[in-house]
Amino acid sequence: MARAAFIYSEELSKHVLRDGHPMRPIRLKWTHDLLDALGAFSSRYSNVIKPSGATDEEILSSHTCDYLNMVKSLSLGAAVENATVFGFSTAGDNPIYEGMYEAALLSTGASLMAADLALSGNVDVAFSISGGLHHAMPASASGFCIFNDPAIVINTLLNKGLRVAYLDIDAHHGDGVQHSFYDNDSVLTISLHESGQSLFPGTGSVDEKGIGSGEGYSVNLPLAPYTGDEVYNWAFENVVPPLINAFAPDCVVTQMGIDTHHGDPLTHLYLTSEGFVSIIQSIKTIAQGLPWIALGGGGYNLSAVARCWSLAYGVMSDQCLSDHLPESQKDHLGIEKLRDVFTPELPVKVVEATRQFAEISVEAVKKTIFPYHM
Ligand SMILES: [Zn+2]
Repeated sequence: MARAAFIYSEELSKHVLRDGHPMRPIRLKWTHDLLDALGAFSSRYSNVIKPSGATDEEILSSHTCDYLNMVKSLSLGAAVENATVFGFSTAGDNPIYEGMYEAALLSTGASLMAADLALSGNVDVAFSISGGLHHAMPASASGFCIFNDPAIVINTLLNKGLRVAYLDIDAHHGDGVQHSFYDNDSVLTISLHESGQSLFPGTGSVDEKGIGSGEGYSVNLPLAPYTGDEVYNWAFENVVPPLINAFAPDCVVTQMGIDTHHGDPLTHLYLTSEGFVSIIQSIKTIAQGLPWIALGGGGYNLSAVARCWSLAYGVMSDQCLSDHLPESQKDHLGIEKLRDVFTPELPVKVVEATRQFAEISVEAVKKTIFPYHM
């Protein structure tokens, strides 16, 4: 049985970015409570670990001092004129709310704790569901992200002399993480995402391949809207295992956003819970024998988030979770089963178009990136 840690405390799920904002931290509580109700923490090999906040010094490994000070001031309720320069606004993607500094410190600390646990060798995998906030830039909030915990975690791993494979399966391009390590050949970043032609942040084309000594170490696999399980898995298998195996990392960091789900209100990919699980199983094989730091990410259909991340944790911890939902979970999840009940059918023409798009992307990655590694 794999030894797994689930980093969580209820404090992570209490804040509200703004009424009606799609990023709802309560999804973290839903995920924890569902796993708990399914008995996923009853084995001595599977434990919930409470996080503590990151330090300012840790934040400054990836962010500027001016930005950190801005987050602190806004968090105290100060009216700051140039907040928009740092990506914050009242009505935009990154709202200003009281306590946001502490909330962002805690979710970053949770990811750093996952890294500590995975590196200690006491667990095989640690899952920080509140992390994976991959859009934050050094001096700016972006895409609901304040501190870029994946980049901060990777910096601590680099400081230990480790080579890191970062794999991002969120529906959105992992632009902030790519930006942080664009010229670095000790970090291989791979992002699979809905094409920037149809989705925020608009970047993530195959020709963004890194610069200087990092050339060939930034990998992007854009996919068409409505890409479903079969095409997604085919593209994943053709690109991800060969590249990570050739890179031979010391540890694996994964961003596991579940806004790829067909029921997600913000994106247009079309994965089912089963498709997501099979990707997690592939990642588990890739990470076999290496410290695996698993982070959360996007996910705006709350039922899909709780169910799919629970299933993912089941894979990580080698537990086969029952498909029968406990009564306490059915009402708010709005479904009778853990796995998707309804599988959407797409017209053949649409599926064919997604396949052709994926084939072009995979070929482009093989031509542009593979020669650097094999
Ligand atoms: Zn996303």
